Amino acid sequence: MEQITVSDIVKATGGRLLCGEENLTLSHISTNSKEMAGADLFVPLIGERVDAHRFIAGAFEAGAVATLTSEHDAMDDVHPWIRVEDTKKALQAIGVYLRERLHIPLVGVTGSVGKTTTREMIATALSAKYQVFKTPGNANSQIGVPITISEISSQDEVGVLELGMSLPGELTVIAQIARVDMAVITNIGVAHIEQLGSQENIRREKLTIQDGMPDGGLLILNGDDPLLKDQKARDGLRTVYYGTGEKCQYRAEDIVLEDGCPSFVAVCNGKRIPVRLSVMGRHHVLDAMSALAVADACGVPLEKASEKLSEFHGFKNRQQIYRRADGVTVIDDTYNASPASMMAGLEVLDSMKSAKRHIAVLADMKELGEQSPRFHREIGTFLADHPVDVLFTFGELAREIEEGAKEANVGCDCHHFDVEEREALFEAVAKTLQPGDCVLLKGSNSMKLQELASQLLK
Ligand code: ATP
Ligand code: MG
Repeated sequence: MEQITVSDIVKATGGRLLCGEENLTLSHISTNSKEMAGADLFVPLIGERVDAHRFIAGAFEAGAVATLTSEHDAMDDVHPWIRVEDTKKALQAIGVYLRERLHIPLVGVTGSVGKTTTREMIATALSAKYQVFKTPGNANSQIGVPITISEISSQDEVGVLELGMSLPGELTVIAQIARVDMAVITNIGVAHIEQLGSQENIRREKLTIQDGMPDGGLLILNGDDPLLKDQKARDGLRTVYYGTGEKCQYRAEDIVLEDGCPSFVAVCNGKRIPVRLSVMGRHHVLDAMSALAVADACGVPLEKASEKLSEFHGFKNRQQIYRRADGVTVIDDTYNASPASMMAGLEVLDSMKSAKRHIAVLADMKELGEQSPRFHREIGTFLADHPVDVLFTFGELAREIEEGAKEANVGCDCHHFDVEEREALFEAVAKTLQPGDCVLLKGSNSMKLQELASQLLK
C-alpha cells in the first residue's frame, strides 16, 4: 500500500479517531487477526457466526498497529482505534479511496468459470511489456477486492483484478470499488445459480461490472458464449469479442491439440499471430484470446504477448498435470467444479491419448440449485463421447453422474462412494492406479479432493 495514514483512513471512512496517533503510517490491511504483513490496519468484520471485534487484542499482538471498530467505547489508549458505523462498509470505502489515488489502468475479470485462469493469462500476456499487479489467490469478493487494491504499489504499471460474486447485487458493489478501465466476461454458466435463480439473472449480474467503468472503457466479451455473443456494452463503453466465431475481432483459427496442448492462429483485428500454449484443453484457447485482446488494448506487441502465453503453465489445483515416477499421470483439477469446467477437465483427460487407462474421480458440484441432479446426469451423458475406463463418483449428487453414464450406455467400471466413505474412496483409487494410467480428480472445493491429490502425489 502506498503511504497512507490513520487520518487518511478516518477521512476515507467518515469515521472518528477514538484514540492514538493520527499521523501513524499504515502499510497493509488485514481482516485476519492471525495474519499480519506488517504495520497493518485490522478490520474486524462481523460474520454470521463470529464477531471479529473480540480478536482486536490478538491482532495487535500479531503486529497490527491500528484498528477499525464499530463499538462505541472500545479502545486501549496505545493504538489508533477508528470508530465507524459498519466495518465492512468502511473497508469498502477505503477501497474506493485507494482506487481514486491509483493512476494505472485496471483490468477486471468476471464470469462464471475461468476467472482465475483468465486473470493469470492476462497478467502473463501483459508482463511482456509492463510490471503487472494481479489479484493474489482468489480474493475476488466484496472483502477481498478492497484489500487487493490496497496491495497495489507505485511500481505497478497495470493491475489485473478478479471480480467475483455469488449473490445478487454483489458485483455492482465490487465494480464500483474497482472501477476498472477494461472488463472481461469469460462466460455465463450455471455457477451460483442456486442463489441467482436463472442464467438470465446471472448474465444481468455479470454485466453490472460496467457500473463502475468510466466512459471510454472497454468491455471484452466471449463471443462464443450464447448469452454474451449479442450483448453490447452500455452507452459510453466500447465492446470487442473474442472467440472462434466470424464476428470476433480477436479470433482463434486453425486450432490443433498437440498432446492436449492447443496451437492456433490468433487473428487480432486482421493481424495473424501464431500461439502455442503449454496448458492442456481447448478451453484455454478462449482464455488466451481474451488475454491477447487485453494485451492489444494496452499496447503490448502481440507477438511478445503470445511468447509469454506459451510460458504459462497453469495455476494451483486447476488442471495441473503431474507424472509420477511409476508412470501414473495425475490431473489435479480439484480447486472447484461446475458443469463447464468438469466437461473441460474430461476433455483434457480424453486428450491424454498415450494413457493406458483413463480414470475419472468425480465429486459433487455444489450450489447448482434445483436442477443440480440434471447437471450431474449430463456429465454422465458427456462421458459417452469422452469415455473413461474407470469412474469413481463421490458424494450424493455425484451418484447422478453414474446414473447418467448408465443411461447413456457408457461402458466403464463404476464405483460410487458416499461422503462418509472418504477413506475408502482414497484407498480404492490408490489401489486401482497402475503404471501408464491417467487419473482426473475433479469436484467442488468443499469435497476436498485436494487431499486425495496430495496423497496420490506423496
Ligand atoms: P471461482 O469462482 O472459484 O473463483 P474461477 O472462475 O476463478 O472460479 P478458475 O479457478 O480459473 O475459475 O477455474 C475453475 C475451473 O475451470 C478449473 O478447472 C479451470 O481449469 C476451468 N476453466 C478455466 N477456464 C475455463 C473455460 N474458459 N471454460 C471452462 N472451464 C475453464
Ligand atoms: Mg477464481
